[in-house]
Amino acid sequence: MEVLSLPYPQLEEDMLGTIPVLTDNALARTSGVRVAFTGQKGGVSEGAFRSLNLGGHVGDDPVCVAENRRRVAEAFGVSPKALLGANQVHGTELVEVHAADEAALVEALRSAEDGADGLVITAPGILGLLCFADCTPIIVVAPSGSYALAHGGWRGTVGHIARKAVERLCALEAVDPSEVNVYVGPHIRQCCFEVGPDVAQQFADEFGAAVVSEDNRVSLAEAVKADVQAAGVDARRIIDAGICTRCASDRYYSYRATEGRCGRHGALACKGV
Ligand SMILES: [Zn+2]
Repeated sequence: MEVLSLPYPQLEEDMLGTIPVLTDNALARTSGVRVAFTGQKGGVSEGAFRSLNLGGHVGDDPVCVAENRRRVAEAFGVSPKALLGANQVHGTELVEVHAADEAALVEALRSAEDGADGLVITAPGILGLLCFADCTPIIVVAPSGSYALAHGGWRGTVGHIARKAVERLCALEAVDPSEVNVYVGPHIRQCCFEVGPDVAQQFADEFGAAVVSEDNRVSLAEAVKADVQAAGVDARRIIDAGICTRCASDRYYSYRATEGRCGRHGALACKGV
C-alpha cells in the first residue's frame, strides 16, 4: 500500500467560505483533510459573544450559536448534522468515531455529551469541533487524513491529553508518530498565563522546569510540544500559531481578559469524502 506523506505543517490566514480562519491549504490539497482555527469574526452573536461564538452553555442566545455553527459547517461544505462537538470537562477522555453513518454519529454525540476533551475521527465527512477561550487547541493529523482534536486546559495538558491523542490516532491508523502533523492553535501564552505555585510545580514535574518562568508563568505551547515529542512526533511536524488569546482578545475569545464572560472560538477538522 502506498503511504502518503504529509507536507510539513503551516498555518496561514485565509477565508473558508465566509469565515476567517487559520488553516493549512497545502495539507487540504494533498491529503483532503481541512483543519481550521476560527476567531471572533464571521458570525451573528452580539455583545460579549460577538460574533462567531461556537460554544453553547456560555450565556449566548442558542439561536445565534446554531446559526454560527451552521455557517461553519457550510464553510466546510458539510451539513450541520455532520458536526460533532463535545461537552468539554477539562479531563483527558477521547471519543472516537470510525463510521460516518447516522447511528455512529448519534452514539459518538452521546459519549461526547457525557464529557470528553478529545475527538479521534477516522470517518470522512464528519466535522469535529472543540471550543476554546484561552485553553490550548491541538489538532493531530495522520497521513490517511484521519485526525484527533484535543482541548488542553491546564488540567488536560498536565494529564497528557496531547500525547494521548497522538498515541491513540497512531495506534488506530498504524502509523509512526513521526509521520503525523500537530497544529497548536491560539491560546493564552506565557506572557499572560500566571498560575499558582502548585500548578507551576505540576508543569515542571511533567514537562521540565523550562516550561515555567521564575514568576510562575507557564508556557502551554512548550508543554504540549514536549508532550507530543515524548510520543515520537517530529519537531518539524509541529506548528504553533504563536497567538496569545489574552493579548489578542479583540480577535479571539479570552476567558481571563473578560473574567469569563465571552464566547468560544473553535478548532475544527474534516476529512474529505
Ligand atoms: Zn499574552
